[in-house]
Amino acid sequence: MTITFDHSYARDLPGTYLRAAPDVAPAPRLLALNRSLADALGLTLTDAEAADWFSGARLPPGADPIAQAYAGHQFGGFSPQLGDGRAHLLGEVIAPDGQRFDLQLKGSGRTPFSRGGDGKAAIGPMLREYLISEFMAAVGVPTTRSLAVVATGEEVWRETKLPGAVLARVAASHIRVGSFQFFAARSDQTNVKALADHAIARHYPDLAAAPTPYLAFLDAVIARQAALIAEWMGLGFIHGVMNTDNMAISGETIDYGPCAFMEAYAPGTVFSSIDHQGRYAYANQPLILGWNLARLAETLVPLLDASQERAIEIANDRLTGIAPRYRAEWLAVMRRKMGLVGEDDGDAQLADDLLTAMEGADWTLTFRRLADETALRPLLDDFSRMEAWLPRWRVRAEEGAAQRLAATNPAVIPRNHQVEEALTAATNGDMAPFHALLTAIQQPFVESEPYMLPAPTGFGPYVTFCGT
Ligand code: AMP
Ligand code: MG
Repeated sequence: MTITFDHSYARDLPGTYLRAAPDVAPAPRLLALNRSLADALGLTLTDAEAADWFSGARLPPGADPIAQAYAGHQFGGFSPQLGDGRAHLLGEVIAPDGQRFDLQLKGSGRTPFSRGGDGKAAIGPMLREYLISEFMAAVGVPTTRSLAVVATGEEVWRETKLPGAVLARVAASHIRVGSFQFFAARSDQTNVKALADHAIARHYPDLAAAPTPYLAFLDAVIARQAALIAEWMGLGFIHGVMNTDNMAISGETIDYGPCAFMEAYAPGTVFSSIDHQGRYAYANQPLILGWNLARLAETLVPLLDASQERAIEIANDRLTGIAPRYRAEWLAVMRRKMGLVGEDDGDAQLADDLLTAMEGADWTLTFRRLADETALRPLLDDFSRMEAWLPRWRVRAEEGAAQRLAATNPAVIPRNHQVEEALTAATNGDMAPFHALLTAIQQPFVESEPYMLPAPTGFGPYVTFCGT
C-alpha cells in the first residue's frame, strides 16, 4: 500500500518550516492502530507497514517530513520560538471524500526546534492522547485524531527510564494561533498574510471571496473556538495547557498533554502539576479563550485596515463579542445536556442554578441521571438545593427528557483512575486494559458499569504532567 501525499503547506509557505527527518526506531511494535480512521482516510495499510511508517522506522513513500515553526504564549509569557520540537509533519493526505488532513508523527526525534528537549515521547502520554482524542471524536467534539501508537523499542528518560513511543496524529491542520505569532513577532507581514491565505483556503474556503476576508477569518476562528470551548465545558474537559501554541486555527482540540476530565463538579478544578495559579482551571477556560483570540487578533491587525487605528478598533469590537458569543454557545450545550427542546428565556437561569445545586456531584453522571431521582440522590451529599431545582426543570423539560438526556450525555468518559490504570499497565507491557477502556470510550453513550463509576475513594488528588 502507498499513501498519496500532498504538501500544500510546504509548497505555499516556504520559510515557515525546516526540513527534519524522524529518527529511525530500532524495534517498532504496533500498540494501537485506528482501523476505522485509516479506512476513512482511504489508507489500507498492513500492521507491519503501520509499525514502520508511524514510528519513523521507514518513511512511507511520498512523505517529505518538516518541522513547523510557531511561537506561543505559555502561561501568559511569550516564547518567540517554539515550533515542532518533537514532531514531524509527513505530509497531507486527501481522504476519499476530498478532505485534506495532516499526517504528523509526534515523539519522533529532535528537530531544529527542539531546544533542550530530546524530541521523544513515552508510551503513556502517547496512549493518553490516543484515548482522549478518540473519546472526543466519539462524542462529536472537533479534535485531532489518533491513527496509531507505535512503541519504538527505545527507552526515554523522564523521572525514570520509560519505554518510548511515537503517535501518528491526523489533523485538519497544525496551524495554531502561535503560528501567526511567530511571524508577527518578527514583523514578517509577508508570512502572516501567506499563513492567513493558506488557512482561509484550507479551513474557511467560503471566506476567500468575502469583502474583508481577514476580518471574516478572525470571526470564523472566534466562532469555532467559542463553540469548541463550550463543548469542553459541557464534558467537564480541562485541557490543562491552553497556551496559544495549543489552539488550532481549524477549531479542533489539539495537544492532549496534562488534560483530564473533572469528576466532582468544582469550578476551580486543575489537574496539571505546573498550573500553580489555576490559569487553566475548568472555569477559567472561557476567559482564556478570549485571551488567546486577542493574541490572534493582534497578529491580524495589519491585514484588517490600512489605518492602524481603525484596524485596532475593528479588532477590539470583535474581541468584545467573544464573551456573549461563548455564553450563547454554552447555553446551547447546557440546553442539550439538560434535555431541553427549544429555547425559553428562563433557560440561562435554570442552567446557572443547576451548577450551584450540583457542586461536588459527579459532573458526568448528574446530567445523565436528572430524570431519575433515585439514581441522582447518591451523587450529592446535600440534596436540598437539587430538590428545589428539580421541579423547575421538570416543568421545563417535558416529555421524552429521559431519552434526550441519555442520548446527549455520555455514560462513559475516560475517568482518571481508569486512564492511569490502562497507561500504567501499557508501560509495563500489558495492553489489555488500554484496549478494553478504548472500546468503552468509543461507545460513550452505552452504559458500561465499571467504566461509569467515579474514582474510588483513596484515588487522588489527581495530578497530571506536561511536556512528557
Ligand atoms: P507542548 O507543551 O507539548 O504543547 O509543547 C510545547 C513546546 O515544547 C513545543 O514546541 C514542543 O515541540 C516542545 N516539546 C515538548 N516536549 C518536547 C521534547 N521532549 N523534546 C523537544 N521538544 C519538546
Ligand atoms: Mg503543543
